[in-house]
Amino acid sequence: MRDLCLAALDAATRAGASYADCRALRMLRQNLACEDARVSQLHDRESLGLGVRVIADGAWGFAAIRTLSKSEAEKAARTAVAVARASATAKAKPVLLVPEPKRTSSFRTPFEIDPFLVSMTEKTALLLAINDRLLKRSPLIRKAEAAMTFKKDERWLMSTEGTDLSSVTVTSAAWYTATAVSRGDAKSRSYNPPPRNAGWENIDAADLLANCDRVADQAVQHLSAKECPVGTRDLILDPLHLALTIHESVGHATELDRALGMEESLAGRSFATPDKLRRLQYGSERVNLVADNTLPGGLATQGFDDEGVEAQRWDIVKDGLFSGYGTSREVAAAIGEDRSRGACRADAWSSIPIVRIPNLSLMPGKAACTVEDLIADTKDGIFIEGMGSFSIDQMRCNFQFGGDAFWEVKNGKITGMLKDVTYQSITTDFWNRCVGLGDQRSWVPNGVLNCGKGDPMQISQMTHGAVPAKFQGIQVGGARAAAGA
Ligand SMILES: [Zn+2]
Repeated sequence: MRDLCLAALDAATRAGASYADCRALRMLRQNLACEDARVSQLHDRESLGLGVRVIADGAWGFAAIRTLSKSEAEKAARTAVAVARASATAKAKPVLLVPEPKRTSSFRTPFEIDPFLVSMTEKTALLLAINDRLLKRSPLIRKAEAAMTFKKDERWLMSTEGTDLSSVTVTSAAWYTATAVSRGDAKSRSYNPPPRNAGWENIDAADLLANCDRVADQAVQHLSAKECPVGTRDLILDPLHLALTIHESVGHATELDRALGMEESLAGRSFATPDKLRRLQYGSERVNLVADNTLPGGLATQGFDDEGVEAQRWDIVKDGLFSGYGTSREVAAAIGEDRSRGACRADAWSSIPIVRIPNLSLMPGKAACTVEDLIADTKDGIFIEGMGSFSIDQMRCNFQFGGDAFWEVKNGKITGMLKDVTYQSITTDFWNRCVGLGDQRSWVPNGVLNCGKGDPMQISQMTHGAVPAKFQGIQVGGARAAAGA
């Protein structure tokens, strides 16, 4: 692979590129799903290819190949330069990259059991056993769905600046949903243990079967839950729920390409423009949101990004103050930074890297506090678990979130289940209403496996760790029609 990359870089330079990088990638993907007593999806795919990215005449060009030969690699490099030259005729200003030290290194996800060495038979047997247990728990459970996904990427990245890197990353995840039906109504409950960059041991650690009875019981309980009240309530949000709230209202809002107006497709702008950096009170003083692509097991932890920039940890919101962005080498200079944060990734060898949300987590509170303490300290509130529907405007400002399970809290105690709960807020108003955080013991590294961005769309993944958190006086109920974004 290194020989092919070197050949492509030489060809790009000879064709007139002022910069080139070449990324070869071998991707293994497995998706398995079972519905009730049948296997509904078995997807097992290997894809190998090479992408060449160049700057020529001050503009980007990119080309990719799946036929791995020296002549094809050289041809792709020449095509990328031709694309750059054509793009240059319409450029507003030349592309300039902030410096990154030349490095030679390799990275590997630590894992105990390669998930691709575990048989499909064993995997589907576990999924079918989950469904069987969910369905047998109650006659009201009419639908059970269980799924797993595994990824393994072997990556080589070289550049005309002398970067020479390689990595092996592995992701393992599993989840399931039980749906109960009665009197013309259907309600569900899901189990989503944290997806991680880890091996099959992450599936073993998830206690999938041990949670089936609870999940089925709560799906049934969900059927007879009370309607969501309308008004303001204090909300206690669990770490899994917050993973999605963080993703949509902070992660996407602080991608610098969006904030600069360079990424407008797919709800692609942001209210968090550079003039607000280190000025805007994004949240209350207790809110700390930290980007960390060195996080062990993190879904965006891969040693270096697809521009060869070393993985880093930095503040996005520090003591409530808006403090940083996710950046690439192209956009970092726009906010006066002299190095990229290393948040530029592609979802395949055939995709050009774009600014991507890093692992981005809500840090624990300093005082000893559990979710039980947050509930005990709430007079009139709702405890929301898990991810549900969401809607957010293209500026990442006005939003509405649902959830997976909702619990009424009265005078410090959970008094029953609620259904169809949604809450509405404005990003900075919401985070400034954060009045309580769980401590380190309650921090859970949940994440997102299906973040869509770009045009054509790319799918990426990242971890959003969080502690349970309390938000005071949030508008609930009166759901507007939700639309994905
Ligand atoms: Zn996303």
